[in-house]
Amino acid sequence: MKRIQGWGNTATDYPVPEPAQKYLKNVVGEPAQLTNASIENLIKKIPPASCPAHPLISTDPEERLRHARGQSLNDWVDLCDGLIDSFPDGVAYPVSKEQVRELIAYARKNDVVLIPYGGGSSVVGHLTPVQQEKASISVDMSRMDQLLDLNEENLEATFAAGVSGPQIEEALQKRGYILGHFPQSWEYSTLGGWIVTRSVGQQSYHYGRIEPLFVSGHMETPAGPLDLLNVPKSAAGPDLRHIILGSEARLGILTDATVRIRRLPEEERFYSAFFPNFETGVEAVRKIAQEELPLSMVRLSDPMETETTFQLSGEEKLVSIAKKGLNLFGQKDERCMLIYGLTGRKADNRLADRHLGNIVRSHNGMLVKFYLGNAWIEKRFLTPYLRNTLWDLGYALDTLETSLPWSKLQEGRTAIVKAIEMGLEHENEKVLVFSHVSHVYTNGGSMYVTYLYRRSHDPQQTLSRWRILKTAASQTIVDLGGTISHQHGVGLDHKTYLSQEKGTLGMHLITDLIKTADPSQIMNQGKLVDLDK
Ligand SMILES: Cc1cc2nc3c(=O)[nH]c(=O)nc-3n(C[C@H](O)[C@H](O)[C@H](O)COP(=O)(O)OP(=O)(O)OC[C@H]3O[C@@H](n4cnc5c(N)ncnc54)[C@H](O)[C@@H]3O)c2cc1C
Repeated sequence: MKRIQGWGNTATDYPVPEPAQKYLKNVVGEPAQLTNASIENLIKKIPPASCPAHPLISTDPEERLRHARGQSLNDWVDLCDGLIDSFPDGVAYPVSKEQVRELIAYARKNDVVLIPYGGGSSVVGHLTPVQQEKASISVDMSRMDQLLDLNEENLEATFAAGVSGPQIEEALQKRGYILGHFPQSWEYSTLGGWIVTRSVGQQSYHYGRIEPLFVSGHMETPAGPLDLLNVPKSAAGPDLRHIILGSEARLGILTDATVRIRRLPEEERFYSAFFPNFETGVEAVRKIAQEELPLSMVRLSDPMETETTFQLSGEEKLVSIAKKGLNLFGQKDERCMLIYGLTGRKADNRLADRHLGNIVRSHNGMLVKFYLGNAWIEKRFLTPYLRNTLWDLGYALDTLETSLPWSKLQEGRTAIVKAIEMGLEHENEKVLVFSHVSHVYTNGGSMYVTYLYRRSHDPQQTLSRWRILKTAASQTIVDLGGTISHQHGVGLDHKTYLSQEKGTLGMHLITDLIKTADPSQIMNQGKLVDLDK
């Protein structure tokens, strides 16, 4: 069963081993002993539903609680520490586009806000009901999860938009195909959510981000249905797919989507390499990206992420041997770990691996062909469960991300990490910050930052610490000219920074689009942008 407080299902845990707990205490201090608010008490906070009754809408309190938030740190404090103060008034589970249309008609008639709910994995506040004076309905898409069409000639598949990552791959892989979109939230996130938030899977270098995978689809908007033409490419004016991509439910509800698929690869391999410091590692990764080596992924951790990965692995003996070995080969305290993936034909993989090896060696790097790459792939959907354990131990953990051109990436990382590290100095609180470069392009890459700090006995203080850190990092990002999000989207948490990225006219264009598709403003109000009525 899916957790109400925390990430994932209740059957899965990721323990933090004793030595790792010691390491965290050394870095950020002794954590406070805290317990979560009880579900019973959270349910007691739910006011009576204020939406008019409808046969498709359930007002069951637990359902309303389950759909009230996503996975941003703010959401965690609301749900785990009991600060939550807004809930959808009801939850609907449509099974067809006709039912989606019916819900939109209901919402228009009764001036009720609709908040589509995919997998609930948003980390930027996409799902919070914000209009207390208007009732809101969470539209859970999970019953729209079918494979509607598989076109083997065109290598395309059409799914209902509520289909989850595992359901997609199950449907495709047994027929010899793969979508290959693997965000770390894959276990619970959905195709519709990926498209409207512009998500990126871990092997984006081979399979592509969601943008090139999304071919066409059907959206129900309050102004009527929108169908995209399915052609390989069109020069007929602006591309309407790019209006749906990143629309964050402000235009309507995506009911189905056609995606490009591939034949299952002959081989997938994951290996690792080490560089003596981050600067050399980034240079090597830039070279790899600019030589367009046919890899499926690269992920270069900074020294702190490399060390924290070792510490949290729980493999004390193995880590100690590995460190000795790495030291001998010049990979000392500033060492940075690269995980890379090869996906495709065996012969092509071998060639790509040989080229990569040459680049690694010419940057004083060292290849490690055993254990680490496989360990990473095995745990890639398990590591988010660490956040649950860390939370229970008394630590709050959050992530943020941006993308920057190569010319600014190193400076950018230093500035963002410093802004977070120093963010709680006024409280004498330490913050553990680490980062990695992952999705890479010929002109730059994404920078993904994780930070961990101590929760407070006062949930408001836990929240205010997060706000300070998030604001410091976000302001640094926009000051650097980076994007406020490479992959997580805007939601509530990044809304303030959007105009700096889009400019005045850009913001008008976005708001006018929303007003056209949703003239009575019933779609996910308050997210992405604020509109004047
Ligand atoms: C542990 C963890 C790891 C993550 N890793 C990644 C990662 O590797 N890469 C990445 O890009 N992101 C990642 N994310 C962020 C998140 O998973 C993505 O933003 C994802 O695309 C959200 O999909 P979802 O189905 O869960 O959508 P939800 O969280 O349910 O909703 C997100 C937004 O989409 C809207 N929406 C959902 N379905 C529809 C629909 N059918 N029509 C219209 N609007 C809809 C919602 O209203 C909301 O505004 C991660 C999150 C977590 C918690």
